[in-house]
Amino acid sequence: MKFQDIIIGGGASGTAAAIMLARKGRKVAVLEAQDRILRKVLASGNGRCNLSNARVCPQRYNAPDFVAPALEVFSSKAKSFFNSLGLELTEEDGRIYPYSLSANNVVNALRRAAEYAGVKFFCGCKAEKIEKGKKFEVFSEEGVFESENLIFATGSNATSGSDSLSLLKKYGHNSTRKTASICYIPSQSVKGASGVRAHARLRLYCGKEELFDKEGELLFKDNALSGILAFEASSYYARALRRGLKCYGMIDFVPDREESEIAEFLKRAGGDCRNALCAYLHSALAVAVAKKAGAEGDVEKNAQSLAKAVKNYKVDFDGECDIKNAQVICGGLELEGFDRTTLQSEKVKGLYATGEALDVDGDCGGFNLHWAWASAYVVAEAIEGGNND
Ligand SMILES: Cc1cc2nc3c(=O)[nH]c(=O)nc-3n(C[C@H](O)[C@H](O)[C@H](O)COP(=O)(O)OP(=O)(O)OC[C@H]3O[C@@H](n4cnc5c(N)ncnc54)[C@H](O)[C@@H]3O)c2cc1C
Repeated sequence: MKFQDIIIGGGASGTAAAIMLARKGRKVAVLEAQDRILRKVLASGNGRCNLSNARVCPQRYNAPDFVAPALEVFSSKAKSFFNSLGLELTEEDGRIYPYSLSANNVVNALRRAAEYAGVKFFCGCKAEKIEKGKKFEVFSEEGVFESENLIFATGSNATSGSDSLSLLKKYGHNSTRKTASICYIPSQSVKGASGVRAHARLRLYCGKEELFDKEGELLFKDNALSGILAFEASSYYARALRRGLKCYGMIDFVPDREESEIAEFLKRAGGDCRNALCAYLHSALAVAVAKKAGAEGDVEKNAQSLAKAVKNYKVDFDGECDIKNAQVICGGLELEGFDRTTLQSEKVKGLYATGEALDVDGDCGGFNLHWAWASAYVVAEAIEGGNND
């Protein structure tokens, strides 16, 4: 089975690269280990597929210098790429979705475009070994596939727990330490409020360095901080964990009031500490805050410490979320081995990598899928331009 370009991985970046290459008239095959392509895209954005973000910029990724050229060249092409698939877009607070708000429609649009362009898909076909002589040979139970270029688009081990990055080890491409990202953050610091949601401000610190500061919705669990705000913070937490740093969080439960204002109100409210706090908080959170402040009984004499705990509730984190529950992995193929303008291997001519297979992770909010499309675009352009010296 001979092709010009073989893509290992029929996920977001692999399928996009296949479409872009086949549209240039190239003979392209996609090998996909699972029985169907684009599984993660189907699950993305809670079934709505948050496929990009209006605020994409290098600083929203772990490796700004590396991603910058790809983001730059794809920035003026993104809209026309989606439109060419028959997708109209809509935006909510920077997050870009298909207008239909249907991940299923995105999957179907990508599949249709690929088939129309002539991409050949081999599903249930796991690449087991790669050999490079004059051409690439990819070995699988379905047979041996031969090509001039090989695009490594195998994604990360988020959700599945295993990845294929070791296939490139013999060519000198190692992978970095991996940590779970875009996921809940394990913590037992807010006990007794499991299932409660609250609008709050969350700050993340490593010593005195502030890593993250944002308002949004938190969902409390006995063993974790979850909800969209925790998911957003988890990228920064994962990157810090990877550097071996210890972090803690600070929750401000009432971000739109000053501490002094809260203390005054509590004093005036009078009565029991926990009941008084219910002016601001869900009763389960009021219990946790009163406990943190060490305050019991009459609110009047505890108003100051309660207000302080409401605005500065310290949360300790307990290690890492299970990788199977993460949406993204912080970690992947070491970037040093790849040219950032073409994403071609600097060790093996004709070998390229895209998406999450590389050690690139973006913030929560469409940044990871955006990287998948942008990296695919760069590779397709490089291959077409014969840029594989
Ligand atoms: C539940 C969930 C929700 C998400 N929501 C969003 C969102 O709303 N917005 C956003 O930006 N990001 C989201 N993400 C992240 C996003 O889906 C990924 O970053 C993106 O899919 C990565 O694309 P990729 O092509 O690198 O890898 P993937 O899409 O993971 O594709 C890799 C493919 O390679 C295949 N493969 C692996 N090894 C082999 C092998 N040896 N042989 C053949 N095939 C192989 C895998 O089966 C897989 O299909 C979400 C992720 C999850 C899990």
